This record gives sequence, C-alpha cells and structure tokens, in this order.
Amino acid sequence: MKACAIVGINWGDEGKGRMVDLLTEGYDVVIRYQGGGNAGHTVVNEYGKFALHLLPSGVFRPGVVNVLGNGVALDAENLWAEIEALRARGVAVSPANLKISDRASLLLPWHREQDALEEARLGAKQYGSTKQGIAPFYSDKYQKKTILAGELFYPDALREHLAELLEWKNLILTGVYGARPYSPEEAAAWIETCGTRIKPYLCDTGAFLRSAAAEGKNLLFEAQLGALRDLDYGIYPYTTSSNALAAYAPLGSGLPTVKLDEVIGVVKAYSTCVGEGPFVCELSGEAASRLREAGGEYGAKTGRPRRVGPLDLVATRYGVQTQGATALALTKLDVLSYLKEIPVCTQYELDGQRTERFPFPLALSRAKPVLETLEGWHCDISGVRRWEDLPAPAQRYVAAVEESVGCPIRYVSVGPERDAVILR
Ligand code: GDP
Repeated sequence: MKACAIVGINWGDEGKGRMVDLLTEGYDVVIRYQGGGNAGHTVVNEYGKFALHLLPSGVFRPGVVNVLGNGVALDAENLWAEIEALRARGVAVSPANLKISDRASLLLPWHREQDALEEARLGAKQYGSTKQGIAPFYSDKYQKKTILAGELFYPDALREHLAELLEWKNLILTGVYGARPYSPEEAAAWIETCGTRIKPYLCDTGAFLRSAAAEGKNLLFEAQLGALRDLDYGIYPYTTSSNALAAYAPLGSGLPTVKLDEVIGVVKAYSTCVGEGPFVCELSGEAASRLREAGGEYGAKTGRPRRVGPLDLVATRYGVQTQGATALALTKLDVLSYLKEIPVCTQYELDGQRTERFPFPLALSRAKPVLETLEGWHCDISGVRRWEDLPAPAQRYVAAVEESVGCPIRYVSVGPERDAVILR
C-alpha cells in the first residue's frame, strides 16, 4: 500500500489536475478530501479537454475508484451536472468508480446565494470569491448547521433537521441581507431531486478506504488550491475556507490514521494568482499580458484573467515547507520559452531589510520582490521528453529552483497533454 498526496505549492492553478491524471496510472483509488466545486482541475487526455470541479481527476482511468471524502463541500447539484457532462463525452461514472462519503456535508442552495450576497455587500472590498458557496458552507459546517449526506437515508429526521436549519438561515438571509426566505417546500424539493441522484453513490468511505489499504491498494489524495490559500497557513483572509495542505488529507478523506508515504507538490514555473489578496511578484502592463497570453492564464472555473508574475521562490519555499513536499512537479516550463532572460524572485525586501522568510499576511503588502535573472533557452521545448534533450539553460532553471526551495524536482511538465512530461 502506498499513500501519496498531490498538492498545490502556491496559489492554486499549478496544474494539479494534469499531474493527478498522469500519476493515477500507478494508483487504485483517488480521493478529493477538501474544497468543493470551486476547483477547476484541467485535464487533457484521450477523451478531450476537461475542467473538473468536484470529481477526482482519476475518473478517466478505468479500474480507478474515485472518492469524495467527508472533508469536501458536497455540491450535489453541480456534481450531478459534472457527471452528466462527462457521460455525454463517453466517460463512465457510476457507483462502481465513484464513492461519496455519507459523512460529507451538503452544500445547500442558500450557501451559494449567501456567498454572492456577501460579496455584493463587501463591494470594492470583496474577497474575490468564486461564488460557489464555499465560505458560507464551511462556516455553517463548523457551526454544525449543515446536513450530512447520510441523513438522506433518514427522511423523517432529515425533514425535521431541515426545518430547524431553515428557521435559522432565513433569519440571516432576510435580516442581514434583506433577501427572500426559503420555504420548507422549496428546500424539501431540492433535497428530493439532488438527494435521489447522489444516494446510490453514498457509503462509509472510511470503511472502503480501510479495506482498500488492507488489501494493499495504492491511494492518491488530490488537493484543491495551494498552500498559500490554505485557511490556516495561507494569506488569510484571502484564503479558501478549507485546509489545502497534505496534512489534512487523512482527516478529510475518512482515513484519519493514514501516514502519507509521499507528498508531491505541484509548482508552476512562474507565479499566478486568481482573485484578491497580496501578490508580491505581480507584473503589470505589456509584460503581464505577454505572460498571461503565453500561459493561457484565465481561471478554469470563472474565466477570470489570472494575475501573473515571475516565480516567487520565497512563497514557493514556504509552500514546500508547509506541504511537507517530498518531491516536486514543475509545470508549464514551456510557457517561458519566449523569454531571452527569465526573472525569478529570490528574496523580499521588507521595511528596508532583505528576507527569505515568508512574512505575516499583513506585511506582504509592504514586501517588494528582489529579482535575479536567469538565462532563457528561447526555443520550443514542448516536444522534449527526456531530461538530456532539454536545452542547458532550461536544465539550469530547473536546478536553480530545486536548489532554492530545497526539494527535488522529479517531473518537469512541458505541455498540458498527459505525456508532455519529463521524468528526472
Ligand atoms: P489545477 O487547478 O492545479 O489543476 O490547475 P488548472 O487546471 O487550473 O491550471 C493549469 C492549466 O495549465 C491548465 O489549463 C492545464 O491544461 C495547463 N497546463 C498544465 N501543465 C501544463 C504545461 O506543462 N504546459 C502548458 N503549456 N500547459 C499546462
């Protein structure tokens, strides 16, 4: 049995979906353990190009079982739309290859509504939410004001629970936001439609994973977003509302005692960030547009243009440390091929001092990047599949990143397709 987590080292969008899709070959079970339908994991394979939101990226591999653990925000409505869209393109999804934890909490229609209402209330100060209801969902979960998916098997108790929840939630929707209340009939109809669809997939995923582990099956834990968006360790409050760290994989999956043998951190060869919050290396003007276009840096979920900049090694080092990465995948190296010289940020200048330490979130807005320039390779590397065929300046770029962040780079990705990768 091998347990491995694939996690984001930076602000998300590092190319985790593409790495999970590639690595599932050696794994029997792929588990999403946190976050919800706000993810946009892009996968390009023999079926075409997909942006997966809630489904684990192992869904394309025959024989792989995909699990949504207790830690995810179970958006049954969007999950169903995602399943149907995949089926329409020839991908099989059934209770044989998708198992959903009966302990996962349901993301309810008012969570999405409350998310949008709160962003509107914040106006110019909004967090840049994807408005998928994630923040209201997790705050309700920790207030014990959500419904566990397994309650669908107890209709009488569920009806009572729903009525209690609505009484409370309507006070917030009407009193705080001046919005309309939800009627019990409307909520019950939603539960009936969405609940009926997902019921066949629900099970005790903890028991399933324990027996899979006992049988020696290999488990791959797929994270959403990256270390800098982790609720506890990221750039709070511009984080997500769940824990995006590998450390949460055991808890959020249903296998709380599992020890991870490996943590593969995914790092993009330059920096991108979608939404609000401090972003020390941000480029503007022509240089930003050029990098954004070269990398196709538009959000997979929202289509929003991503903020872009040179690789921030200070933030990356912090991400590697908090994730406890044992190996790295460096993605999108091919995107930098247009540059003759490539800047990287090796330190921050903060209040007149140079530092390599990632500071407290509020101090980040005062930090300035200290840049060094590395030689570019200035040729197309998207067809390269062997390390020795990579131009020397590209090899030096990879080696410089590796040395700076203190973790071996095992995979170098040079294109979005499954096979466009160099194994070192
Ligand atoms: P994730 O959320 O971490 O899975 O990342 P996203 O899917 O949001 O963003 C990664 C984007 O980069 C997707 O459009 C991928 O198809 C694309 N991509 C991933 N790896 C590479 C690569 O090595 N080169 C290029 N050019 N594109 C890549």
